[in-house]
Amino acid sequence: MQDNSIKSIVIVGGGTAGWMTAAALANLLKDTKITLIESDQIGTVGVGEATLPHLRFFIQRLGIDEHAFMRATNATYKMGIEFINWGEIGDAYIHPFGDFGHPIKGIDFHHYYVKLHQQGLNKPIGQYSLPVMASKAKKFAYPSTDEKSILSTYSYAFHMDAGLFSNFLRDYSETRGVTRFEGMVTRVNQCNESGFIKSVTLNDETEFDADFFIDCSGFKGLLIEQCLKTGYDDWRHWLPCDRAIAIPTQATSAPLPYTKATARNAGWQWRIPLQNRVGNGHIYSSPYMNDDTALETLLANIDGKPISEPNFLRFTTGKRKKAWSKNCVAIGLSAGFLEPLESTSIHLIQLGIMKLLDFFPDRNCDEIRVNEYNRMMQLEFERLRDFLVLHYHATQRSDSAFWNYVRTMPLPAGLDHKIKLFKERGRVVQYSEGLFLKASWLAVYFGQGIIPTHYDWQLDTIPTEHIVKQLDDIESDINSAVHQMPSHADSIAQHCALA
Ligand code: FAD
Repeated sequence: MQDNSIKSIVIVGGGTAGWMTAAALANLLKDTKITLIESDQIGTVGVGEATLPHLRFFIQRLGIDEHAFMRATNATYKMGIEFINWGEIGDAYIHPFGDFGHPIKGIDFHHYYVKLHQQGLNKPIGQYSLPVMASKAKKFAYPSTDEKSILSTYSYAFHMDAGLFSNFLRDYSETRGVTRFEGMVTRVNQCNESGFIKSVTLNDETEFDADFFIDCSGFKGLLIEQCLKTGYDDWRHWLPCDRAIAIPTQATSAPLPYTKATARNAGWQWRIPLQNRVGNGHIYSSPYMNDDTALETLLANIDGKPISEPNFLRFTTGKRKKAWSKNCVAIGLSAGFLEPLESTSIHLIQLGIMKLLDFFPDRNCDEIRVNEYNRMMQLEFERLRDFLVLHYHATQRSDSAFWNYVRTMPLPAGLDHKIKLFKERGRVVQYSEGLFLKASWLAVYFGQGIIPTHYDWQLDTIPTEHIVKQLDDIESDINSAVHQMPSHADSIAQHCALA
């Protein structure tokens, strides 16, 4: 029988997406020739430092020691994201990587909270979340594996230097046989009949052919769009931010164990603490704010001395209509971009890689696999988009044209229904898989002032004093656990401080 297996792969692009893909493939495909081409002249996007807990599983799957990874990337721990000024100016809440309370008698915790809230409880729901309280206390400890412990109710991720992460994965990949070429791809050559990509040509006319191509070339989508013309779904009417300015600064205090996202007049500002510096940036919407005002706003709101010139970036929020077309799959910014409000891009890279491994093709690139891959990626992009749109829509802000637009804009189909269901009786539409599950939606709903009118009717059979006691017990368990946790700075010093 003819061997139709893929013998050679070319990856175009050596940013986070390119090197994560190369590392994952090199780890599994021992007999496949893997080549990565990147252009020093073009460089990488140079941002992308806040991650989600899933990245830990990616690192583990590669057999990489987490502390070695943290040292190599100047990383800190991350237990959530603090959203400031989103519901109203002056508001703040943390979206934690973990639960609020725990179900009692089979009923979700937030129903109990809503019942007491209606009776005058004025504590934020974050008081019942260990990662929220630990973040506020600037503490960090590894979660417990004992399911009965309150210390098992959270997860964690990292803040890291994206450039160092790429270098780290480059070493890993080259040690496992990936060949790297520096040069600029100037032509993508297709087979006449099938339209499959046959080869790419560099500016010095060197040609690389392969059975399969991975487009990690960034926003432009050199293979997937410029050659295969798969098209792009533009989502700027729901997520109108389309520009960013990034400026790293010197650290002036011990790193926080969470990211900050502070809403501004026409967008928002990020603050990402690494061990040795702080990543700052301002994401904004060009119809509502010009570049000069955006830069002034950012400079007026950073602490610490800038350590490089501002990096100006432009993007179109949305996704490629097909991330996989013929014998080419796009991973990373070439597949689409959702603004980094919830640090979802590296997760989408990881998902793209994992799904590619699940549906790994032969040279024919059977349509059934390709279509399923595209369906799953589309679904995840749409779910994440809706979660991001919720942050903008769930606001009472009316202090600028930007906030008036996002507060009143028509919502994507399905999101309106989800919000109404929650408002009516605290129901959270639960996906069976995907990234942001119930606790994440609860964090944003409650954090931005969407409180259900009713709680689960079954609570009416439970005396209020029992509910008060349950909530008090949870709060005091959390407080004593947080009290005993080491500080975030001490945890870093103990496990992964820079040499
Ligand atoms: P790039 O970094 O752009 O890399 C493209 C590569 O392709 C480069 O190596 C380039 O040299 C190469 N290339 C391009 N054209 C050619 C050519 N013709 N020939 C040869 N090589 C070529 N993600 C998160 O998860 N968390 C965050 O906090 C976060 N913050 C972000 C903030 C902003 C403002 C932006 C814009 C993005 C952010 N992201 C974040 C997304 C994250 O930066 C990207 O997902 C990640 O860096 C992956 O980028 P990439 O590798 O796809 O593209």
